Amino acid sequence: MKAAVKVRPEYGGTEVRDVPTPQPGPDDALIKMDAASICGTDMHIYEWDAWAQKNIDVPRIYGHEFAGTVVEVGKNVDSVKVGDKVSGECHVYCGHCPQCMRGNMHICMNMSAFGVSSEGIFCEYQALPAQNLWVNDPTIPAKYTTLQDPLGNAVHTVFSAGDITGKNVAVLGCGPIGLLAITVAKAAGAAQVVAVGHTNEYRINLAKKLGADVVLKKGDDFGKVARDLTDGLGMDAVYEITGNPNAVLTGLDMVRGGGTLALLGIFNDPVTINLTDDIVFKCVDMKGIYGRKIWDTWFTSTGLLKSGKLDLDTIITHTFKFDDILEGMEVMASGNSGKIVLTF
Ligand SMILES: [Zn+2]
Ligand SMILES: [Zn+2]
Repeated sequence: MKAAVKVRPEYGGTEVRDVPTPQPGPDDALIKMDAASICGTDMHIYEWDAWAQKNIDVPRIYGHEFAGTVVEVGKNVDSVKVGDKVSGECHVYCGHCPQCMRGNMHICMNMSAFGVSSEGIFCEYQALPAQNLWVNDPTIPAKYTTLQDPLGNAVHTVFSAGDITGKNVAVLGCGPIGLLAITVAKAAGAAQVVAVGHTNEYRINLAKKLGADVVLKKGDDFGKVARDLTDGLGMDAVYEITGNPNAVLTGLDMVRGGGTLALLGIFNDPVTINLTDDIVFKCVDMKGIYGRKIWDTWFTSTGLLKSGKLDLDTIITHTFKFDDILEGMEVMASGNSGKIVLTF
């Protein structure tokens, strides 16, 4: 089968080559890929940054966002069957640690992730643990179901603030997950969705196209705009999806007293904030968001996909054949894209 393999520890360093088709173990299902999508994590691996150098062994087939069809199951598997359309939760959880036992599989104490610590899905077939597979509604196109990993990040983040119907929310960051958060917040009936881009005009325009009520960029007074839009109060919820330390300060400035600041971005360094004034006295509920709740988030994402209320066609800006994955990586690296989908 064909696979995109990181073969050299350097920028790019990826080749589409023939490798043996994997055999499913007793608890695995073999999946034939229908569609895949390129994640920020894949870009870390492609660009071979400090995180990738520490966490990735080469050679490695990477990629973890997919929609596929089950073609074979291991002897212990009864949760999926041949012919099922599936996507996968890339966080492989143990099922028996205290966190898993409490239903917090997304922060399992023995977590691994396919496409990072084991072989991923940028290939024609992959054998994956059946417990990590989600059976898709076969009427939803694969170009959408492949997005359930980043869509799930957005869903997990947006609803960490509870019911946002009629609420004022701000999304900091207009990368693919920020864009997904905008369409989720719109679909959920937020009163006003404020999107904060930075300098990337391409993505700022996508945020506008998605119907964000106000789109701000570098140089704007974010806190003042947030208060002006809300009679001086501030936003009910702010979603930090950049990993930029300044965005945390922006979020604390924009959020109302008693509001929620949810952090999905990954920060390279510690961030200094004024806990007394900005958290304690304001009673701000600041929370960390990691991955997707298994499987709670997936149910919500599926419901949103079926509702037809998400504007994913605006977010999917490019589609490539799997063979042209390197072209897709370069487009993603340029920053002039939303989500990039690969078809097989
Ligand atoms: Zn992803
Ligand atoms: Zn566990």
